[in-house]
Amino acid sequence: MKFFFKYGIIFIMVFVLAGCGRVAPKAWSYTDTAMGTVIHQGIYCEEEEIARNFSQKAMEELEHLEQEILSWRLETAEVYEINASAGSEEGYLLSKEMGALLWDCMALSEASEGAFDIGIGALVRLWDIDRWAAQAQTGVYQVPSEEEVRMALQLCSGQIRLEADRVYLPEGMGLDLGAVGKGIALTKFQSLLEKEEAISGAVISVGGSILTYGKKADGTNWIVGITDPFGTSDYIGTLSLDGQWCVSTSGNYERYVEVDGVRYHHILDPATGYPADSGVSSVTVLSENGMLSDGLSTACFILGPQKGMTLAEKYGVEVLYILDDGSIILSEGMKPYWTQREQ
Ligand code: AMP
Ligand code: MG
Repeated sequence: MKFFFKYGIIFIMVFVLAGCGRVAPKAWSYTDTAMGTVIHQGIYCEEEEIARNFSQKAMEELEHLEQEILSWRLETAEVYEINASAGSEEGYLLSKEMGALLWDCMALSEASEGAFDIGIGALVRLWDIDRWAAQAQTGVYQVPSEEEVRMALQLCSGQIRLEADRVYLPEGMGLDLGAVGKGIALTKFQSLLEKEEAISGAVISVGGSILTYGKKADGTNWIVGITDPFGTSDYIGTLSLDGQWCVSTSGNYERYVEVDGVRYHHILDPATGYPADSGVSSVTVLSENGMLSDGLSTACFILGPQKGMTLAEKYGVEVLYILDDGSIILSEGMKPYWTQREQ
C-alpha cells in the first residue's frame, strides 16, 4: 500500500504538471482513518469536485458500516445487538444483509474446518486486539494467563445456530467480524463507483484490503505493492492488475504486541486460543469479491500453505504465501500477476 501511494503521488504530480487542457482523467488522492485503520483513495476523474464528493460518500459509507452494522462496541450496530441477544431463546432477527453475510461466514467456517471462526469475540476481547495499533505496541501489555485463554476459548466453542433469518448464540458468545469488515467495505465502494459515470478508475485501500476499479488514465495496469512482512524494504513484490479486483493481505506484522521478545499478533487460532503459529508471515488473496478475499486471507493464514491452498482452490481465488523462512508460495493462477522485487 505504501508502495502504491508513493507511486500515486507521482501520478498526481505528473497529471498536475501535464494535465492542463487535457481530456485524460486526473488522479486525486485522499487519506483518512476509519474502522481503526487508514483509508487511502486514489480517484481518476476530470473534476476534483467529483473526486472529493465521492471520497466523502465513501467515508460516510464506512461510518455507516461500522456504526450501524459491524461494531461490537457501539450499541447502534447490529453485531452489538446480536451479541446482546446471546443466550436468549428467541435469538435475534437478522437484517437481510447481515443474514446473507452470516450464512457466507458460516460456510467459510465449515470449509476451513473451523479455522475461520466469527464466534471468536471473547478471545479478541481478552487479547484486547482492537486496542493494538497497526504496528508494534509501546507501553505495558499484560499477556493473558493460560487459564484466562482457556476460559475465553470455552465461550467461543459453542455452536452458532442460523435458522433462515434468525441467529441463536450460546450464552457468553460474541461475534467478531473483523476478519471480513474491510473486504465488505470494498464491495460497498465498488457499488458506489458503479454509479459514478465521471469516475473512470479508482484504487482504494482499507487497511490490508485493496479495491482496484476501472482504468488508470494511461490505460496501464494497477500496481499493488505487497508489504515486506520482515520490514527490510517497503514491499516485497507487486501484483499487476487490470480492472476490478479485491486484494486482501493478512499478516503477523499488521497488529501485534511484543513482550519479552515474543510477538503476539491479531490472527487467532480457534483451536488453541493463541495467535496462529502456522509458519506464515503473510497471506495475500486475490478475488473479485471483497468478503472472500478478506475472509480467505485470514482463514489461509491460520491453516498454513498446504490446507490454505486447497481452500483457496475450492473458492476459486488466487493466493500468495510468504512464510516465516522468507520463502514465497503462489497458486498457479497468481503467477501471471506477480513480480518479485529485485534485491
Ligand atoms: P484480518 O486482518 O483480515 O486477517 O483479520 C483479523 C481480525 O479478524 C482480527 O483482528 C480479529 O478481529 C478477527 N479474527 C482473529 N482471529 C480470527 C479467526 N480465527 N477467525 C475469524 N476472525 C478472526
Ligand atoms: Mg481478513
